[in-house]
Formats: sequence, structure tokens, C-alpha cells
Amino acid sequence: MLGQMQNHPLLISSLIEHAERHHGDGEIVSRRVEGDIHRTNWVTVAKRARQIANALDAEKLAPNERVATLAWNGYRHLELYFGVSGSQRVLHTLNPRLHPQQLAWIINHAEDSVVCFDTTFTPLIAAVHSKCPTVKRWVALCDADKLPADSGIPNLVSYEAWLGAQSSTYSWPVFDENTASSLCYTSGTTGNPKGVLYSHRSSLLHAYAVVFPDSLNLSARDAILPVVPMFHVNAWGLPYAAAVAGCKLVFPGPAMDGKSIYELIEGEQVSMAAGVPTVWQMLLGHMQAGGLKFSSLKGTVIGGSACPPAMLTTFQDTYGVEVLHAWGMTEMSPLGTVCTLKNKQLALDEAGRLKVRLKQGRAVCGVDMKIVDGAGKELPWDGRTYGDLLVRGPWIIDQYFKAEGASPLVDGWFPTGDVATIDADGFMQITDRSKDVIKSGGEWISSIDVENVAMAHPAVAMAACVGMPHPKWDERPIVVVALKPGAELSREELLAFYEGKIAKWQTPDDVVFVPAIPLGATGKMMKVSLREQLKGYTLPGV
Ligand code: ADP
Repeated sequence: MLGQMQNHPLLISSLIEHAERHHGDGEIVSRRVEGDIHRTNWVTVAKRARQIANALDAEKLAPNERVATLAWNGYRHLELYFGVSGSQRVLHTLNPRLHPQQLAWIINHAEDSVVCFDTTFTPLIAAVHSKCPTVKRWVALCDADKLPADSGIPNLVSYEAWLGAQSSTYSWPVFDENTASSLCYTSGTTGNPKGVLYSHRSSLLHAYAVVFPDSLNLSARDAILPVVPMFHVNAWGLPYAAAVAGCKLVFPGPAMDGKSIYELIEGEQVSMAAGVPTVWQMLLGHMQAGGLKFSSLKGTVIGGSACPPAMLTTFQDTYGVEVLHAWGMTEMSPLGTVCTLKNKQLALDEAGRLKVRLKQGRAVCGVDMKIVDGAGKELPWDGRTYGDLLVRGPWIIDQYFKAEGASPLVDGWFPTGDVATIDADGFMQITDRSKDVIKSGGEWISSIDVENVAMAHPAVAMAACVGMPHPKWDERPIVVVALKPGAELSREELLAFYEGKIAKWQTPDDVVFVPAIPLGATGKMMKVSLREQLKGYTLPGV
């Protein structure tokens, strides 16, 4: 017997309709490529999303054709999120930090028909357009009079002229909620990037999950600043979640330095911000240098890499900002776990609470997880035993785009490539990425633990721990360090700093100072490049 409730498919168009009707005057503020601050609201975003749908019809784009964006976080990008997916085309967010060759590879692999780009990226598009035969239309995200002249890019129009020519009347089509909505490629730290194709259903379920109180806890009273890019796993789903909750949205555009982010938080009275640790490092550096305080910020969501303890305590103790440590992956839309405490953990003393807060957190309802040993046997949730972390759920990948027949799943579970522990209360903690974990004399050393100690030193701007070959122990950790501008620190001083903070055998064998740690396209430390840089390095005494 089936239930007897209305069968409305979960479609992205329903989110923009909700936002327009129920919080139409909700503000969307963007720092633009043009340098100014732009203000709009959900009514106007919805209207312009319908114009985009009409523009895509005028281009004769069939359902499922891919429309790519190469753009910063901003209102035009937001309009495309709804206009493209809502009209049953697939929004493909391109990462501008990729190498041009890789970008062209992805455009071809996705067979993008239209590419919309911020004018910052005109030189990038000028360099790749001739290698992208599937693209019929290039759209520069600017006013008609700002269209780059003599770029040599064929079939180029300005976004404002392109959508301005269209009617704002449009009926969103109704179709199967399992239809593809958007496409995002993994950053491809090894080999070619892989496409993750989200559906309308997965995007909506994920958006609701982002809003939950023990998730990011968004409401109509919030002003949220997604520093995490809209080209990286849909800015963690925040554009959709904001439409659900009706919070004010604040977009940083291309300016993600500490000063610009601080000014935006204060100027727009942001209550919640979300980004990777490297972004917060820059913000905290700016605030500490200027002796600044926040007047509105209540929380930050930190994910993408482990949140260093020093960052968490600085946010909490110095600035009174609650840190929500979250974990996920491109393959998971991305939200998997968020670290919010239960009453039991709130009752712990400060040190006990901190220990829990540094974990990646509890599974959001909808995500199931387990840890297994090398033979696939499930391991206990005791907070000590670590194993390969596997997940499943309605917003987790089934297979990669165009890789039919080659399922990444193991008995229906997706192997995350992370090594983790889970405690009896369900708090998961990432020990490491399986390829970064250091195997020393049969024991595993977490590179994250080694990095966290160094990052707590006041002279250290960033630290990366990698394993180096050792004849007796197989591998021993070293820590590669970039110092803060003007700071001084010796190898011996840093090694002495580890005493009492970590077991002796986990303490790195050496410190290598570098001007900067290489960062990947999503702001994460690139250990592959770092290992390249360290070619020829040998451990002391080896
Ligand atoms: P890519 O895999 O392309 O680098 P993702 O954003 O999909 O991009 O990366 C997901 C990975 O990032 C996870 O598998 C995990 O290793 C790491 N990660 C994400 N959030 C955290 C976190 N809070 N703590 C530690 N690692 C994290």
C-alpha cells in the first residue's frame, strides 16, 4: 500500500520559488569583480534566473546539456545556480585555479555547451577556447559595455545583454527528481579529475540537512558568508540552504584576503561564515595584527582540512566565535559530519570539550558511516581503533560521471580514502588521508597531529607533515614549515616545542623551512607537490 500524500518531485526550482515568495526581500550582497558592493534580493534573483532559463531556450539547449561557470562567489553565479538547473540543464562549476590544460580537459569531458565566466578569467578563456569544440556560446559575466574587446573569443556575449533580452516570465518544468542538476569535478590531486553528478533530489535533501540545528543551524535571522567557493562542491550547498532558510547571503567575490573578509563581515554584520582553514588563517592574522574584534560573527564553519586546535581556541577564546568543525567530500555533496556537542559533552570540563570539538563530528541524519580494517571487517566505535572510513546515503556518489560500469562502491558503501576513529557517542575523527598517513615501524602516525602542534607555535604560519623513507622504520615524519612574516624560529626550538604535546616516537625527525607551502586549487596543502620539492632530501643520520 502506497502512502497517499502529494507527489511533488524535489526540484531546485522549488527552492527559488520558495525564496522568492517567502523571503523575497532577503538580501544578497556581493563584492564584485568590478570592485564595488552590489545588492540584490531573492525576488530579483528569481526573476533573473527565469531570464537565464529563457536565454538557454533561445540557445536551443536541450535538457541535460551542460552549462559551465568559471566564476567567483557572487549574485550572477547564484542566478545561474537556479536558472540553469531549474530549467533542466546541468550546472557545471569549473575551478579557475586549475591549470589551463586541465580546465580544457574538463570542459571537453563534460561536453559543456555554454561557458559563463567572470572577466577576471578572460585571459584563461582566451587561452583555452580553441581547444573546446563543444562550447557554442561564451558568456562574460558583465555589463554590455564591459565586454572584453579583442579577446578573440568567438560567440561571446555579455551576461547582462544575454539575459536582458529575455522575458522574465517562465514556467519551471516539472520532471523526475533524480534528474542531474549539477556537476563538479574532484580537484584531481592524482590523475585526471573525476566528475560527480548531483541530482535535484540529492541537492534538496542535502540543502535541508545543511540547515538542521545540529548541522550548520541556519535561520532567517542569519547573515551567512560562504568564503568556500561556489566552484567547490557548490559552496558546501550554502546557496541552496540559504534559499531554504531565507538567510541573508554575503559573497566575497575574488577578495579572500584577511582584510577584505574582515571588512565584509563587519560591514554586512555577518553571523556565520564558512571556509577552509587557510582562509581563516589569513583572517586571524589580519585581526591579530590590527587588534580587531568582531561585532556580529557568532560562528564559523571550518572544513575541507582538519581545523588546527590553535585556530579553534583563538576563535573561541579571543573572539567569542563558535567553531563548527565539519567534514565532507565532493563525492558527498559535501556534508558528512558536523561537530556539535550533546549535553553529555557539554558537561565536560574545558579540556574535555576541546578534545571533542576538534573531532570532525557526528553524522548528519541521512549519512551513515562505518570504519573497517584492511579485510573489510567493521571496527568498534571506541574512539581509539582506526580504520578506513566508508559512507552511504542519498547525497553520496553512486558512480563517477561517464565511468559507467566502474563502481567506486564496496558493498554499497563509498570508501572515502580517509582513516578515522569513531567514539561511542558517534563522534568521528579523521586520523589522516590514507595516502598521507605515516607508517613508522608498524605504527601509524597521523600527519594531522604532527601539523597541529607546529601550527600552535606563534611563529608558524603553516605546517605540513610528510613521511620520508627510513631504512629501519620504513618512514619517519618531518615537518615542513612556513613562518609568519618577520618571525624567527630554529629547527631545535620547534622540535623542543613538541615535548609533552605528542609521543616521542610521533615527534618529527626534522624541520624543513620553506617560504610557502604549496596550496591546491581548493586551498588545501598539496603534499604531492611538497614531496616533489623534497626530492633528494634525506633524513638526518640516514
Ligand atoms: P579533493 O578530494 O578534491 O581534495 P574534497 O573537498 O572532496 O576535495 O576533499 C575531501 C577530503 O578533504 C576528505 O576526504 C578529507 O580527507 C579532507 N577533509 C575534508 N574536511 C576535513 C576535515 N574537517 N578534517 C580533515 N580532513 C578533511
